[in-house]
Amino acid sequence: MTASSSVDTRAVGVAGSVAELQHAVAAWRAARATVALVPTMGALHAGHLALVARAKALAPRVVASIFVNPTQFGPNEDLSRYPRDIDGDRRKLATAGCDLAFIPAVAEMYPEGAVARVDPGSLGTILEGEFRPGHFSGVATIVAKLLRQAAPDVAVFGEKDFQQLLVIRRVVRDLDIPVRIEAVPTVRESDGLALSSRNAYLSADERARAPLLHRTLRDVARDFAGGDAAAPDRGIAALLAGGFAKVDYLAVRDAETLEPPRPGRPARVLAAAWLGRTRLIDNVALAP
Ligand code: AMP
Repeated sequence: MTASSSVDTRAVGVAGSVAELQHAVAAWRAARATVALVPTMGALHAGHLALVARAKALAPRVVASIFVNPTQFGPNEDLSRYPRDIDGDRRKLATAGCDLAFIPAVAEMYPEGAVARVDPGSLGTILEGEFRPGHFSGVATIVAKLLRQAAPDVAVFGEKDFQQLLVIRRVVRDLDIPVRIEAVPTVRESDGLALSSRNAYLSADERARAPLLHRTLRDVARDFAGGDAAAPDRGIAALLAGGFAKVDYLAVRDAETLEPPRPGRPARVLAAAWLGRTRLIDNVALAP
């Protein structure tokens, strides 16, 4: 069932197979509509819906994928407890103007015997990649597959996952995938906490401490831009003093290569830190 044949406007229509997805996209193309893709893992929040809104502004037809991709989770990560709410997601997508949800089963995306993977090289092994081995290969693989399957004109991603965005840009370029990659700024709570499906894991006490991550990143960005090379170390100390159990990394990097920053080029502060058993990531731009 696709949205175009559905009379239920409260929940977006679903394609469960690649064939159904491609059938819907082909009908849109036949009507000369361009197509935008918004890849997600579901448990949708206002950050995801901002991507859908941007997609809708860029193309008359929007497909959002909901797929909790097993190949991007490590063996000790939260794959089995990752939050899921397909009915709620479908209603939110309909309200946001999405035309179709692509919700494949794992066996549809990784049929038995599927072994090929996209390797994003060194961009996938630094920062997040150092703490989540194989994560970006899983991301690059699933995004490459989604881009092949839906063949959209444009695909929309959030700056919330900044390294992921760079990995995807690199993969699209290196593999000559004909799609435009569009980035949307991070949507935050009023206290600065970046919206994330994983925020649901936070206890009340952890939730109260969580905005310190964004505050600290902003402080580091300001101080580093002002010439204070010790700002990242002070940022780590501030997070630990504020109740974060561990800081995997907090670093200032070149905003395009993630290599050490160079004067005159755009830079970004990126961090991953643990509040109890929940790992939060965030990033902010340095003032030019
Ligand atoms: P996820 O469902 O976590 O895999 O995220 C799907 C897409 O939504 C990715 O492109 C994310 O970067 C983006 N996203 C997640 N959280 C936010 C947010 N708070 N603001 C903007 N984009 C987001």
